[in-house]
Amino acid sequence: MSAHPDDLVFSAFSALLDRSSSKIGLIFFNVSSSTRWGPVPRGWLNLPQLAISGLRILEDKFALGNLGVKSVHFHNADSKASKRYEMKMNAVRIFPFPQLPARVYTPLGLGGHPDHISVRNVAVYLWRNFQKRPRLIFYEDLPYAFLLQNRGQEERKCFEELERELGKNLQTEYSPLAPKELARKLRYMRLYFSQMNSSSLSQFAQYARLVGRECGMEYAERFVSVASR
Ligand SMILES: [Zn+2]
Repeated sequence: MSAHPDDLVFSAFSALLDRSSSKIGLIFFNVSSSTRWGPVPRGWLNLPQLAISGLRILEDKFALGNLGVKSVHFHNADSKASKRYEMKMNAVRIFPFPQLPARVYTPLGLGGHPDHISVRNVAVYLWRNFQKRPRLIFYEDLPYAFLLQNRGQEERKCFEELERELGKNLQTEYSPLAPKELARKLRYMRLYFSQMNSSSLSQFAQYARLVGRECGMEYAERFVSVASR
């Protein structure tokens, strides 16, 4: 589950590489008028917004499709609080897949982006209502995680919020990325050219190295999961 079209590739690439199971990406907010060139004013018929949203969906479909991931884009405008409840209900209707998922990846909410938090809330809501619970895994929201001045404090805040809902059974996990896999991740990130530039790519690589150091690997991504009870 992802708030925006690029979140899964930016933050949970190691999970997308896993070829052992079929995967579906649910992207909640993909009606957008902002690019790395800045916010584009909405014009006649909202054409710039339509064009940018279309471009972002294409980037995402292309990247995820190449990784063997199906994707569903829900066409909610980003950063709109009014859609939250409706979104929750839509997600409930959508979820009866042919098979319940074994694992659900969702944003951790680091940095407090409202769209990321609402997707996290939908995931927690669904998880609590599943008869047979999938593994719920929160991915660190990138680039916010490495842009935060006080990441430790923000992480504790996320943990506390989640522990209120899920109990004190959260654990940190690492997924190593081999140098080849990191290079592949960066290549895929380039496909989101409406959002990326080369200086942010090198920041991503540095951060993957930093996280890798924490778990004794060259590069890694960090996740928080709910321990099974
Ligand atoms: Zn996002």
